[in-house]
Parts: sequence; C-alpha cells; structure tokens
Amino acid sequence: TPTDRILDGKALASKMQDALQQKIAKLQPQIGRQPGLAVLMVGDNPASAAYVGGKEKACAKVGIRSFGQHFPTDVSQEKLTAIIHELNADDRVDGILVQLPLPDGFDSVALLHEIAPHKDVDGLHALNLGKLVRGEPGLQSCTPAGVMRLLSEYKLDVRGKHAVVVGRSILVGKPLALMLLAADATVTIAHSRTPDLAAVCRQADILVAAVGRTQMISAEMVKPGAVVIDVGINRLTDPTTGKSRLVGDVDFEPVKEVASWITPVPGGVGAMTVTMLLENTVWSYANTHGLV
Ligand code: NDP
Repeated sequence: TPTDRILDGKALASKMQDALQQKIAKLQPQIGRQPGLAVLMVGDNPASAAYVGGKEKACAKVGIRSFGQHFPTDVSQEKLTAIIHELNADDRVDGILVQLPLPDGFDSVALLHEIAPHKDVDGLHALNLGKLVRGEPGLQSCTPAGVMRLLSEYKLDVRGKHAVVVGRSILVGKPLALMLLAADATVTIAHSRTPDLAAVCRQADILVAAVGRTQMISAEMVKPGAVVIDVGINRLTDPTTGKSRLVGDVDFEPVKEVASWITPVPGGVGAMTVTMLLENTVWSYANTHGLV
C-alpha cells in the first residue's frame, strides 16, 4: 500500500502541549503554584545541552517552572546525591531528571535510585520500572510512552498484533516491549545477537527500530502493510557540503512504500519525547494533590 500515512509526532506534540497549558491554567489556582521540573546536567556535552535547552523551553511554553541546575564535570557523586535529596524535599518540584549520559566516572543508576519515585518523571527508577513489569500505573519512560501515545492517537490497533521491537535498552526497547505487551500485543524483542533479523522483522505487524544505526531497516525487512516506528536518531554528515541532518534507523523512502503507517525523523517519535516529559510532570503535580 503506497501511502503518505505519516504518524505526525510534531502535530500531536503541539496539540498535547496546548492541552497541557490549559490543564495547568486550571490546576494552578487550586494548587497555588506552578508545576516544577528540575533537570540536572553535568558537563557540557553539546547534544545533552541541546536536549536540556529544548526541555526548558517546552516547560516555559506550557507553564512549568524550571529548577534546572548545571554542574561542571568535577562535581562529586555525593554533591549530586545531596542536590537530589534537596529536590525530593522541595514542594515546588514535581519532577526530577538527570540528563543522561553522565560523563565517565559517575554512577548514574545509583543517582536515579536517589530520586523519589513519585518525582521520577523519566520512569527509570527501579520502582517505576517494576510497576511497568507488573502492569500497574506509574511514571513511565517518555520515549516509549510517546510511541504508545502516537499509536493510540491514530487509533492503530495493538491488541493481538505481532510487535517486533529491535533494541533492548532500559531507556527505550525494554520498556516499550512491556508497554506493547500490556496493550495485548504479541511481542518479540530483537537485538544485536538475534540471528536473521530480517526474517524476524518481516513477521511484524508493528515494527519498532530503536537501535541507533542509519538505514538498518530496509524495505525488504518490512511486511507489506506493517506500521513502522522509527525511534533512532542518527546524525548524518554530507561529505561534500559538510552539512549534517538527522535520520532514523529506517530507510524512510523505500520503507514508506511498503508500510501502512510510518514515523518520520525528525518529526515523529523524537518530537513526542519532551511532551511526554511535560505530561509526566503535570501528572505528578496533579497526583500529589489528589487531582488526577
Ligand atoms: P542503545 O545503544 O542503548 O541500545 C541499542 C540497542 O540496539 C541495543 O539493545 C543493541 O543490542 C541493539 N542493536 C545494536 N546493533 C544492532 C544490530 N546490528 N541489530 C540488532 N540490534 C542491534 O540505544 P538507545 O536504546 O538508548 O537508543 C536507540 C536509538 O534511539 C538511538 O539512535 C537514540 O539516539 C535514539 N533515541 C531516541 C529518542 C527519542 O526521543 N526519539 C530517545 C532515546 C533514544 P544489544 O543490547 O545486544 O547491544
């Protein structure tokens, strides 16, 4: 089925941000303050700095107050732990996130586990991951939650479908597989040790690529009519012009001809991630006050 059926993450994110702005405007007089999000960043990795900037800008747009803090690379693990404890106790702060990856030498998992689970808006604390495994409501990781939201917005049926998730990271592949399972898909998780990846992918009604390798999903790997979700973000530099652009893990143009629906890069899953973070922050804000 040739198609221009594009899952427009950018449009959905913008619609959701408008709704969040209205929700905050309604809750704020009842709660007596704005929601608050604290993003902790260490060092000056340019990609991380760009992500943090994007998050703070989006917060400002919908009415979330930022409590961001930026630390030099020589900050100690103990100091970061102490800051997290302060933010846990700070009533103005509903969400805390540590921008990953941290520079070498930090124990990021130990830090994530210092975040109070009800403020863990990245959903990476073991308690929230455990709730996901149990199928209980809780704060869920933003990128996979964004994928689920895109599927539901376009009313794409998950129940009984065979979903193949390529990638098993704790940030994307693994939680997404659990979310798809909770939505009654039959789920296969593939990874770097999966033999004959193409044959596995061809079984998918819903194919998700979360690897980080340009053009790894070719049209031959896609069953006609499948829904293709591209989580990958890769920077490709044109050797002649020196200009760089973002591409996903899916060979977009040929795969688009085979798929029923597909996410573009940029403007697909990536556009949803920050908005899910805002959603999680506002959920935590409302939930703390019994207003969910
Ligand atoms: P990781 O590097 O943590 O995980 C990559 C996964 O891909 C691993 O499970 C790895 O397998 C698997 N893999 C690697 N090579 C192959 C291969 N040849 N065949 C099959 N599987 C393979 O990455 P993340 O999960 O953090 O991110 C994945 C991609 O998504 C990246 O491009 C990242 O930039 C992007 N991303 C996008 C976000 C967004 O907002 N849209 C947010 C987060 C990430 P193994 O476990 O065996 O090593």
